[in-house]
Amino acid sequence: MEKDFITALEQRLQTPKKTVIIPHKNPDGDALGSTLAWMHFLQNENHEALIISPNDYPKFLNWMPGQEQILIYNQKKELAEKKIEEADLIFTLDFNALSRIDALGVLVSASKAEKVMIDHHESPEDYAELMYSDPQMSSTCEMIYRLIAELNSRGFSPEIASCLYTGIMTDTGSFRYPSTTAETHKAIAQLVESGADGTAIHQNIYDSSSFNRLKLLGIALSNLNQIESLPIVYITLTQAELNSCDYQKGDTEGFVNYGLSLEGVQFACIMIENEKEGKIKMSFRSKGSFSVNEFARTYFEGGGHHNAAGGMSKDSMNQTVQRFKTAVAEIANQF
Ligand code: 5GP
Ligand code: MN
Repeated sequence: MEKDFITALEQRLQTPKKTVIIPHKNPDGDALGSTLAWMHFLQNENHEALIISPNDYPKFLNWMPGQEQILIYNQKKELAEKKIEEADLIFTLDFNALSRIDALGVLVSASKAEKVMIDHHESPEDYAELMYSDPQMSSTCEMIYRLIAELNSRGFSPEIASCLYTGIMTDTGSFRYPSTTAETHKAIAQLVESGADGTAIHQNIYDSSSFNRLKLLGIALSNLNQIESLPIVYITLTQAELNSCDYQKGDTEGFVNYGLSLEGVQFACIMIENEKEGKIKMSFRSKGSFSVNEFARTYFEGGGHHNAAGGMSKDSMNQTVQRFKTAVAEIANQF
């Protein structure tokens, strides 16, 4: 972390400020964990801090300390607009481009508030006055961990510890991905000492599946396809299949990883139809040198990290599968 960033932030936070904190659309464990931890920190330091999420978050995250304070933009637009307009500081966490927060992006751009980006995605956009961007970091939560450690010698409250533990755990695939370093484990050790209950958090997130979600996983797995003579697999889920299992937000989280769990597979994709939004949401995961960030940027209007990225298609499922196969043929020489 650059010293200039800390100095500038410390200077901004010397007097009580009105702040708004924004995670990306469809917030995941890292987005909610980092924004909630940062909210608790700012509130403990006597600042006003309000999280405005572009849309709702999945049920498996609705136990997180402080989540009841989150304002959902598409449910309370007027209040959210007022708060953004009045803010002195806007923190944008766990995303690298204003397009990742949909309509909120325009409001953030127009606001007189100073913008502060804290994020670990590659190729950050240049919209923030203050920036702490580090794609080497396992998670935005690990960055917030470091930031709070720098700013405050009083340590981590149990609420902050639980939020940060959650995001580090979910973004590292429970401490498996190569972004997990010795420093990550040291952070986790400190968070456990500060009151994070790893077993309880793991159960809240991973052992809270509904019956329907497991049935949907069964459908997803039976739709698993392999690309001939390449270490690449893909899964499709149509809206009708989602409906047949009474799909709830968050139900497909983690499905794409089953593709990557096949021996030898280096690149897995899941395509999930969203009729209401008129698009197919795509998730990409890889192992090793193949960059799904680049793949998502080049072919499917997305991006993310080297080994985990997302994108979308406005074509039908069949056309999207065809486009995926064509794209894969173009990058086949990388395997
Ligand atoms: P997921 O597949 O879980 O939705 O996303 C994987 C990673 O890629 C996450 O870190 C997420 O923030 C990022 N990501 C997902 N969709 C997009 C997208 O459309 N654009 C960009 N830039 N990043 C994305
Ligand atoms: Mn993240």
